[in-house]
Amino acid sequence: MKRYSDIVGDGGSRILEQVAEQRARIADGLAGVRHLVAVGSGKGGVGKSTLTLHLASALRARGLRIAILDADFNGPSQARMAGVQGAVFVPGSHKVALPRTANGIGVFSMGSVIPESEALDFESAAHGESHTWRATREFALLGEILGSFEWGELDLLMFDLPPGAERTVQYADFLGPFDDAQGRPFDVALGGPRVSFLLVTIPSEVARGVVARSVAALSKGPNRLLGYVENMSGYYCRDCNAIKPLFDSSGGADLAIPCLGTVPFDPELARRCDRGISLADLPETPVGRALDHVAQQLLNSLESPLEPPR
Ligand code: ADP
Repeated sequence: MKRYSDIVGDGGSRILEQVAEQRARIADGLAGVRHLVAVGSGKGGVGKSTLTLHLASALRARGLRIAILDADFNGPSQARMAGVQGAVFVPGSHKVALPRTANGIGVFSMGSVIPESEALDFESAAHGESHTWRATREFALLGEILGSFEWGELDLLMFDLPPGAERTVQYADFLGPFDDAQGRPFDVALGGPRVSFLLVTIPSEVARGVVARSVAALSKGPNRLLGYVENMSGYYCRDCNAIKPLFDSSGGADLAIPCLGTVPFDPELARRCDRGISLADLPETPVGRALDHVAQQLLNSLESPLEPPR
C-alpha cells in the first residue's frame, strides 16, 4: 500500500492542470458577465432565495440582463420560486442553454433536475467519510455548472448561496478575491468579474448574530461587501394596508456594513414564491416598492467606485 509520504508531487493526478483547465472554462463562460453578486447570510430561512429572485425581477424590469445560479444544491428553492421546476436542459449554440423565467431571467437550479422527493448525494470513497468529500464535490460541481452553461452577455449573475458562514467564505474563495488595481470589477485569477456580497438578515437577535459572524468572516479576506438587506422588517397587513411589527424592534441589525433597505413580510409574496407566480403587480404594494428600492441601491453600490484592496 502507498503511504502519503510515498506520493511525489501531484501523485500523477494532474490536479494543477485540471484546476487550471476548469478555471479557464469558467473564465470563458463568464467573459460576458459584468457583475457577480452572491446573496448570502449565514442563516437559513431569512429570505435569501426570495430576495435573489425578486431583486433579479426588479432589475430585469429595468431592462438589465440577469441570470441566477442557485448554489444551494441540496436545498434548491429557485426552481420552484422561479417556475422552472422540470425545465429541460437543451444544447445551446456551444454550451448548455439556461432555462428562462417568463420575464427572461436565466435560472440554473438543481431543483430543475432533482425532484423534491430526492436528495443530492455527493459520492464518498469510503463509508462514513462523506464529510471529507463534500466541499470538494460541491465546488467541483459549481465549477462544472459555471463552465458548462451559456451565461452569455449579462449585467448581473446572482448566486443564491446556501446557509453557513464558513460556506459563504468558501464561495468567496472560489469565486475570486477583490484584487483589482485599476478600480474595474475584474478578477485577475478568473479573468472575469469579481464577486460582490449582499447579505440578508431579519430583525431578530438570533439572525443578526449569525449574519454578524458572516460579516466578520468575509471581512478577514479581500471581499467586497455591498451591504445587507433587512427582510421581514414588519408584516404587511393587506386588510388594514399597514405595516405591523413582526419581531421585537430591539432586534434591528447593526452590521457595520451599509443597509441597502428593508423589505416587509407580505403573505402574498410567500404565496407567489410557493407557486412560482411572477411579481407583475407587486410594485404597487409596500413590498414591491421596497424591493424596487433595494434593487436601485444594489445597482448604485455595484457602480460606485471600488475601495482599494485592504
Ligand atoms: P432562505 O433562502 O434564506 O432559506 P427563503 O427565501 O427560502 O429563505 O424564504 C423562506 C420562506 O419565507 C419562503 O417560504 C419565502 O417565500 C418566505 N419569505 C421570505 N421573505 C419573505 C417576504 N418578505 N414576504 C413573504 N414571504 C417571504
